[in-house]
Amino acid sequence: MGKVFLIGAGPGDPELMTLKAARALRLADVILVDDLVSRGCLAHARSGARIVEVGKRAGCRSTPQAFIEKLLVLHARQGKVVARLKGGDPFVFGRGGEEAATLAAQGIECEVIPGITAGIAAPAALGIPVTHRGATHGVTFVTGHGAGVDWAALVRSRTTLVVYMGLGRLAGTRAALLAAGMDPATPACIVENGTLRTQRQSVTTLAALSAAGFAGPAVVVIGEVVRAAMRASEPQARAA
Ligand code: SAH
Repeated sequence: MGKVFLIGAGPGDPELMTLKAARALRLADVILVDDLVSRGCLAHARSGARIVEVGKRAGCRSTPQAFIEKLLVLHARQGKVVARLKGGDPFVFGRGGEEAATLAAQGIECEVIPGITAGIAAPAALGIPVTHRGATHGVTFVTGHGAGVDWAALVRSRTTLVVYMGLGRLAGTRAALLAAGMDPATPACIVENGTLRTQRQSVTTLAALSAAGFAGPAVVVIGEVVRAAMRASEPQARAA
């Protein structure tokens, strides 16, 4: 019986992958990789390792989750060391929990290697500390993709909001936050391709928050902590 490593590749920049992830990749016979993962991360694979792309970005051709899980089981049953490489952290909006549960049900060993999640790294790339003391008591990671998020409760929580997969419904999210009483002047930003050379951002306010011009992947950060990015962008604005 083989084994599966469930690995977080980090937010984008291949140097933000962990040493432990690199070591596991070197051991792998088969690597199943998501399309959000930077190709640079695969530099740690052995030559001869089989690399299988199983991307499933919204709107793109995708490999169904059940099929990915079948592949994991199949390869492990053949005695292979399998690396399942996912963007960010495998357990943060990464469906890693489902894969771990499937492997456990099949009696296959699974080792989870955490990664730096985009919701921390993309704001950090703008100098935003998501739990800056004095500005907030915490941070909430939330998906902007589905229905059923209680935005009013999140406004009441007064934590920094980090919205994953939030571009498609951003107008609705903004409206819900405003309707729940969030101050329209609350600092907010969009960070696209955070930590990559292609990174782009918009630092603004809740009232002016708009997904126009962004194609993703991007996180939306809303809260007083975003002021740090406003300050950081001032000298550049003056220089320009
Ligand atoms: N497991 C991943 C998240 C997967 S869901 C993690 O922990 O980061 C995919 C969403 O993650 C994207 O829609 C986007 O909201 C966010 N994301 C991933 N990489 C990103 C990046 N480099 N910059 C900004 N957002 C990113």
